[in-house]
Amino acid sequence: MTLLNEKDAKALTQILCKYYKDAKYYLCYKTPIDLLAAAILSAQTKDDVVNALTPELFKKYKTAKDYANADEKELLKYVKRVSFADKKTKNIIEANKIIERDYKGKLPNSMKELLKLPGIGRKTANTILINAYGIVEGIPVDTWVIKLSYRLGLSTNKNPDKIEQDLMKVVDRNCWHNFAYVIKSHGKALCNTIPICSKCPIEKLCPKNNVTKRL
Ligand code: SF4
Repeated sequence: MTLLNEKDAKALTQILCKYYKDAKYYLCYKTPIDLLAAAILSAQTKDDVVNALTPELFKKYKTAKDYANADEKELLKYVKRVSFADKKTKNIIEANKIIERDYKGKLPNSMKELLKLPGIGRKTANTILINAYGIVEGIPVDTWVIKLSYRLGLSTNKNPDKIEQDLMKVVDRNCWHNFAYVIKSHGKALCNTIPICSKCPIEKLCPKNNVTKRL
């Protein structure tokens, strides 16, 4: 694979951030507790599937206390369409028990505290900090970011935390908050299974421009 030099990687990510400047987070939520549940449910599940079930879920469970006291089987009925629904249901209940017990029902707003909650890794913690609290400590690395970081020559790593470190060196700090959504927009619009390189704003810099076999 080709790793871009730092200057080109910075130029490429700048173009993308400008081109997709309106890219936004894709899951629906109103409160930090809603967001926590939606973000846990979204792992390896399509956003549309999560967004389709959360209106009913959020009507029934509004607070950390509601989730902490939830009957596991009943909560599962609301989320059964997501992958690993059993495990995610347990994580949502356990996380909210901790929030209720240790944080008086308020979702904590630091990376260190969020990472202690079950079902929360750096991707979800970054997502919550950015979208619930406007705190930008890093870049959420989801499956689109993993795939396109490799394809665009921004990282040779496979580990999401290492990819995040690579990206933080070349992405402008003021684009960290929506870089994952920029990448997703680009992937969906132009750089999916069959990339449309002729219409791509970064075709001059991309190492996979018009390469038949892309990873
Ligand atoms: S040039 Fe082609 S492969 Fe490269 S980012 Fe653009 S669409 Fe994707």
